[in-house]
Amino acid sequence: MSVGTGTHCINHKGTPAIGHCHQCHKPLCEACRYDKAAAEGLFCNQTCYDQYIAYASRKKPVVKQSRMRSLVAGIILLAILAAAVYVGGGMMKLPVLKSIYQMVFK
Ligand SMILES: [Zn+2]
Ligand SMILES: [Zn+2]
Repeated sequence: MSVGTGTHCINHKGTPAIGHCHQCHKPLCEACRYDKAAAEGLFCNQTCYDQYIAYASRKKPVVKQSRMRSLVAGIILLAILAAAVYVGGGMMKLPVLKSIYQMVFK
């Protein structure tokens, strides 16, 4: 995905790019790579690296909260289902309602 894409370095027109800066997405060659940030990926300079790190640390996952929310939603759904079964069963004990129920649903 890096070499042979036909893209050339933004600073060296004749040199094929090894990839794009993670922050500004400019095509870069090996000579233009910012070495201090090499462990984190490809960046053109400290500014782009700083911006990328700042952005990455800002979006923190909220997995715990959403998992709790779906659990609560599941419990509420079960409670509604149980109530519906209970109410439906209770209705069937009243003869008038039972005949209406049969008229409607038969
Ligand atoms: Zn950049
Ligand atoms: Zn270059």
